[in-house]
Amino acid sequence: MSCLICAGQAESVECIHGWEERQCSQCGHYRMSQALILVMMEEGQIFDTGQMRQWLTARRDQEAVPAIDQRQAIWVR
Ligand SMILES: [Zn+2]
Repeated sequence: MSCLICAGQAESVECIHGWEERQCSQCGHYRMSQALILVMMEEGQIFDTGQMRQWLTARRDQEAVPAIDQRQAIWVR
């Protein structure tokens, strides 16, 4: 499995319907909505890896496994 943010090596973790969960050695543990993954694929968008990692790190203060949905996505412009 590859990481949805950096495309590096990541483990896929079983999770609830509608979400994908990954454990990436670089980005850490996170959850991403399948709706967002669809947007990424259909629109050919690429995550801003650095900014997403920063967001995940900050978010872990409140949520052990941060969930990324369309509002949280930071794309490369
Ligand atoms: Zn990653």
